[in-house]
Amino acid sequence: MSAMQVKILPALEDNYMYLIIDRATREAAIVDPVDAESVILNVQKEEVNLTKVLTTHHHWDHAGGNEKLVKMFRAPLQVFGGDDRIGALNVKVTQDDTFNIGSLTVRCLFTPCHTSGHICYYIEAPNGDRVVFTGDTLFQGGCGRFFEGTPDQMYTALCVKLASLPDETKVFCGHEYTLQNMAFARHVEPKNNAILRRIEWARLQRAAQTPTVPSTIGEEKMWNPFMRVHETSVQQHAGEKDPIRTMRSLRKEKDNFKA
Ligand SMILES: [Zn+2]
Repeated sequence: MSAMQVKILPALEDNYMYLIIDRATREAAIVDPVDAESVILNVQKEEVNLTKVLTTHHHWDHAGGNEKLVKMFRAPLQVFGGDDRIGALNVKVTQDDTFNIGSLTVRCLFTPCHTSGHICYYIEAPNGDRVVFTGDTLFQGGCGRFFEGTPDQMYTALCVKLASLPDETKVFCGHEYTLQNMAFARHVEPKNNAILRRIEWARLQRAAQTPTVPSTIGEEKMWNPFMRVHETSVQQHAGEKDPIRTMRSLRKEKDNFKA
């Protein structure tokens, strides 16, 4: 049995909230609790001690349930995030800040671009299990729109900070966008077999209404064009010879891409 359990809680149209449980202590945290009622039901069902809210960014479909959850919940909650626009925020964090969920260690990665205060949360368990919650920065096969940042910043987030995590790190992202992202990935690299195989797999998952998360950092490096801006095949598609210019070009093309 693993030390860390991650329960996937679908919310709204295609958002994911995640209940993180430290099995040793039954302490728990919730990532992006937009649906407060669902969070409370699941906390009761799992009989865990919820102490923390991990907010990736201020957009309403991620942070919009924070204030309601804090009001409804029977005990005080620590609300983490990297942006003053986040509701009920009481612990502001930035790059390399750390804290614990029972025996689990959380490290914050500051990844501005989709929003200027976006944080990803990297978590290690004592048995070596590793996961990262990437909000709207890294999606399976894609990345978030550059609403408040530059291609340079997304390059640092994806290709420096997230790419340096161990390959086996599980990636839990903020939305179920895999099939749309993978259609674009295939358009960029039509001969990439990792992409073609993942599309087949993801179709079966979605037909059974099963989430496609998690992937791993190692897998994203194989199929995600935004993490592959160093590759000749991806640069050729973009008509560029530089990773950051390739990042800019891919994002622009994806913004108007119809699968
Ligand atoms: Zn967002």
